[in-house]
Parts: sequence; structure tokens; C-alpha cells
Amino acid sequence: MTHDATVIAQMRQLIQLIAKHNHAYYVMDQPTIEDSEYDQLFHQLKALEQKYPEAIQADSPINKVGGQPLSKFDSITHVVPMLSLGNVFNKEDLFAFAKRIEERLPNQKIEYDVELKFDGLAISLWYENGVLVRGVTRGDGEMGEDITQNVKTIRNLPKVLSTTTGSVPTLLEVRGEVLMPKAGFEKLNSENEAKGEKTFANPRNAAAGSLRQLDPNIAASRPLAFYAYGIAQCQPHHGQTTMSASLDWLTQFGFAIGEKHFICDSIQDVQAIYEQMIIDRPRLLVEIDGMVIKVNDLKQQQTLGFLSREPRWATAYKFPAVAALTTVDNIDWQVGRTGTITPVARLNPVAVGGVTVSNVTLHNIGEIHRLDVRVGDTVSVYRSGDVIPKVEKVWPEFRPVDAVEVQLPKCCPVCESPIVMPEGEALARCSGGLYCAAQRIEAIRHFVSRKAMDIEGLGDRWAESLLHLNLLNDVADIYHLHEHREKLLTIEKMGEKSVQNLMDSIENSKKTSFSNFIFALGIRGVGETTARMLANTFQTLDALRTADLEALKKTPDVGDITAEWIIDFFQAPHNLEVLDRLLAAGIHWDAPTAPTRQPLNGESWVVTGTLASMGRDDATQLLQALGARVSGSVSSKTKRVVAGEKAGSKLDRAEKLGIPVLNEEQFIALMKEHGQIQD
Ligand code: NAD
Repeated sequence: MTHDATVIAQMRQLIQLIAKHNHAYYVMDQPTIEDSEYDQLFHQLKALEQKYPEAIQADSPINKVGGQPLSKFDSITHVVPMLSLGNVFNKEDLFAFAKRIEERLPNQKIEYDVELKFDGLAISLWYENGVLVRGVTRGDGEMGEDITQNVKTIRNLPKVLSTTTGSVPTLLEVRGEVLMPKAGFEKLNSENEAKGEKTFANPRNAAAGSLRQLDPNIAASRPLAFYAYGIAQCQPHHGQTTMSASLDWLTQFGFAIGEKHFICDSIQDVQAIYEQMIIDRPRLLVEIDGMVIKVNDLKQQQTLGFLSREPRWATAYKFPAVAALTTVDNIDWQVGRTGTITPVARLNPVAVGGVTVSNVTLHNIGEIHRLDVRVGDTVSVYRSGDVIPKVEKVWPEFRPVDAVEVQLPKCCPVCESPIVMPEGEALARCSGGLYCAAQRIEAIRHFVSRKAMDIEGLGDRWAESLLHLNLLNDVADIYHLHEHREKLLTIEKMGEKSVQNLMDSIENSKKTSFSNFIFALGIRGVGETTARMLANTFQTLDALRTADLEALKKTPDVGDITAEWIIDFFQAPHNLEVLDRLLAAGIHWDAPTAPTRQPLNGESWVVTGTLASMGRDDATQLLQALGARVSGSVSSKTKRVVAGEKAGSKLDRAEKLGIPVLNEEQFIALMKEHGQIQD
């Protein structure tokens, strides 16, 4: 395939970017992007080179290893080059790797040695007659840095080889990784933090930074460890025939090898081990970024040989990326229950942290401006653990000329009412209220939700269809659905039984509590707790809907702005009409029993840690029944903190601020004293 100037321009851009990140990573030990993002840049370039081989640039990093040796150390040429590893990122790639091997070794039984992929710094150790004479970094694979003095300070590394079971080779070159085990890394970082010194982003940078200090005393003070993963040379030959046996053979001299390694008969077993290791990874002593899969038989390794920068007999199987690059196909605006207009980036689907991400919220127009994200841009999407994926950064380097700047729309994308954004507020809103179908459907979903009117099935299954059939214009229509049985039966998958279940659920919801009803109305700023406070304070709907601003502001948990929103809600004629229809339909509740005493009225409490005798929600309810407001964070306004087992930063903060802390026993005693818990 022939190429045009844009291919070369793309290649040049990627080469420059990779060179910049290689320098930050290999020379400065301070990467500025995630490894997974770097890998994507690398793969983009590799894919371009495979498609347009005639356009490959002379300075391409694709077939090169690592970085240039640092000039502050002497350079040493590796007798046996120190290569890198190819990468696979998913099951398909892994199976393709196995298939390539099987094709080169027809009719042979293939066993795989599966090792931890240490996330550290590769080094070569040279022993002559059992004495460590040289330690060298990988460098560019051909030439590395002489860091012998620093290497000698690594405590778990044998400086002199001795064995009780065999003889010591006259020449032994061991390859392996220098790491900072997790515990040492955390200790070093917290000590540095306490001293006000620089902390390290991850154990790899900490290890690399420590090992490449000119002063060996610094390396000596750092908790480094060496793990062997291969033998480059051994004279006389060690006599082992497999990779795993050769690693075990090294342990007799005192070399540490990975805390786990596995031998698998099939590539399916390799996949199973990989999946298990994703789960076990947090419990390992050292940081790993994947597994290394090697053909176990050393003769087979020899037959397979090498590609330019990597062996054919091994590959790295990296763990799912926490960050990935993708492009923004579009930015849509979604309308929430209270009319908030939220921008959502539609992405070219990309795997991040083990799931495919195709939509990411951008929160508000301010965030769009802060990131300067445009339609067509390349972005980094980040996701770690359970964290919701987010756009972390935009890559202006890849911005196409026709990238489109994003503006806040003037009209609601659903109902075309004007969009308003009051001064000083971050969120824009559709002014359409319940005229807006999007707000209507969200209002209905909220109304029927479990903690509101608790009408099962309606929110997630039928609401949209009912809206389209014009059967639900507002929440009061729910209580008239029984008049439209025939129409309901025309909805796909809605049979007699589901109609009856829905009707029963609607009927049951009519008996509710005052606080659930207030919450169900979906008044802006009125969550569950505020609804409970309003119910306790005002006792009746009439009292609440005629309450003035001052009375509302005095209610615990109601701030100035929420008070105004409550007033606005009860002043809107449409809302009053809906309320009347709801009551006319038969919604009722028992008059709230005002707690006779509210000894903790208006106090702000925090519950943290694990309580042995109850959940945090139960503790919260007990406190709320006594009038306390239970908050999620500790501040100077917090009156008291209830701390269970494993209470973390909230307890620390309370202690720092001198806020009284109750343990579980004291809390229970207090609840008994106020009659919330019986003896
Ligand atoms: P690599 O880290 O992907 O794999 C090769 C290395 O794995 C070997 O050199 C060896 O040191 C190591 N390894 C660990 N355990 C091993 C085991 N059990 N057996 C054999 N080898 C083992 O490749 P690389 O060439 O060292 O580095 C490239 C990687 O470095 C990239 O994939 C990227 O993730 C990272 N990088 C990141 C940036 C950045 O800016 N974030 C920049 C450059 C490189």
C-alpha cells in the first residue's frame, strides 16, 4: 500500500512523542503518562509501520529497546544483548502467540512457564568464579550503565556464590529485575513525606531512581530487592533443560525468584492463571504489571529464536490498562430529572480497566472548557478499580484540523425550551420543567423508586413506553393507569400478569409515609434526609406547602438555597395541581409521630468504620430519629463522631480537630439512654 504525506506526518509525530516519553521514563525515571497510554502510542506506530513498511522512518523506536545509557555512568556493552518482550493484551492475542509457536514447532508438545512480570528495572549481573564483578542496566539493549557499586548494596542479592549441592560456575550472567517491594515503597514514601522530601509515583520509579544514584550510600538506604528471571550465560552449562528448572537451579546460590511461577500444559491454562493473578495481584509482595509467558523447554526456545527486539518464545501478557487513548466521536447533552444539562462524550469504544468504555460524562460546560475537549480530539480515558471512567486529558498533538469546539446549546435537546445557566452556578438547566419529556421520565423514575413510592417495575421497565403512549404526563397519572388496561396490554411483553402486578404495586404504594412522599416529589435539593427533617418539622402537607422561607430555613438540613427551591416548588400551579390529584387518588400516610424528644436536634454527626452490632445505615437512622444530621465528612461543625473498627481518615481528622469520638459501646449506651435501643 502506498502512503501519502499524512502517514509520514503521523509517524513523525508518534516518534517524537515516544522519544519524549522514553526520555522521561528511562532517563529521568519520571514518566508523565500511564504505561498503557505509552503502549498505545507504540502500537499505533507499529500498526502504521506494518501497513506502510516503505514509509518506516530511520529513527523509529519500534525495533529498539529501552533508552540511551545515562552519561553519568560508564557504558558497558552487553555480550548477549538484553532484549525486550513482545506484548499481548487479550485472550485472542495470547492464543495467536501460541498458534505462531505451534506452527514453528509442529507436532511437538509445548509447555509454558508462566512468571510474574515484575515492574522494575532490568539488570544483568556478571559473576566470575562465583564473585559478583559487574551489574549493568539494560540501557538500549546493546549497551547499559555500569551500576556495580549500587547493585552491591542490594541486600537480597548474593555477592559471592556458594552452594552445598553442586559447583559454582566459572562464568554466570544472571538477568533479572530490581524492584522495591510494596511494603518498602510505602515506608519510604511515608518517611519522605514526613521529612517534606519528594515522594515517588510508583515502586518502579522508586527502584529505578534509587539504583541510578551516583552515590551508592543512597541506593544502600533504599529497600531494593533483586528477582532473577533468566540466565544469559553459564560456563560450564548448568545442565537444566527447562526455563523453570533453570530458575530453581539459581535459588541454590541464594537468588530470589518470583514468589509464584506456574507450568501450564495448554494455552487455556495460561489464560486461567492470568485471570486468577488479576485477582491475586494485590496480595503479592511486589508490584507486577502482567505475566510473562515463556516456552518452558530451553531447546524449543533455541529453535524459535528471536525477532529484532524480542524473543519469539516469550511474551508479556499485560494486565488490563487503567488508562487508554481513544477519540471523541461526539458530545451529547443529557437532561436530568431536575433539568440539569450534562455533556456526555461518545467515544470510539476502548477497553479500560477490563471493560469497554464508550460513554463518559464530562459533568458540565466548565469541565469541557477546562479540558478544552473538542469533537474529534484524542483523549486519555482513566479508570481504576470501581472508579467511573473519566476523561483525564486531551492530546492536542493529535487534534485534527476539523475538530469542533463545543458550545453549551441554547435550547434543550429534548423539548427545545431555552437552556438557562444562572450566574455563579456550574450547571446549566432546561427551563422546560415537566413540559420536557426527559425531565418527566426522570421525575417518574424518581417518584416510583424504592426509597420514594416504591412501585416495582415501572421505573426501569415500562415508564418510557407509557410516556410514548401518552399515558403518563405527570406522576399523578400513575394512579389512573388502571383506566387504560387495554392500552397497557398493547405494550410489548406486557401481559395480563404484568399489568396486574403493576396495578397491585401501584395500589400498595398509596399507603406511604409523609417523608417518603416528600422525597418522591423530587423537589430540588430535597434528598431522603431533608425529606425526613421536613416531615418531622412540619407534620402535615398543608403546613409544609404554606411554610415561609424563615420557617424552612430553621429546619435541620435545609440551607438557604434549598429553602428557596421548596418555596418555588409549592408556588408552581402545575405542582399544586399534581399534588391535589395525588391526594385525590388516595395517597395517604399516618401522621408522623413527632419524636417526643429530639435531644440531638440540629447536631451534625459522622458515623465511620465498621460497627459490629449494626450497619452504618442503622446507626444513621437511630441518630436521625433523635434529630441529628448525619454527614459523610468531618468538619469543624461536626458535633461528634461514632467510630467503629477500621475507622480511617475520618477518625484521624476528628482527632486532629479535637471532636469527641464515641466507640460502638459508648454509642449504644447513648442510644439506650435515649430509648432508641432497648436493653
Ligand atoms: P516491557 O516492560 O513491556 O517488557 C520487557 C521487560 O519485562 C524485560 O526487559 C524485563 O525487564 C521485564 N520482565 C519483568 N518480569 C520478567 C520475567 N519474569 N521474565 C522476563 N522479563 C521480565 O518492555 P520494556 O521494553 O522494558 O519497556 C517498555 C514498557 O515500559 C512499555 O510497555 C511501557 O509500559 C513502559 N514505558 C512507559 C513509558 C511512560 O512514559 N509511561 C515510557 C517508556 C516505556
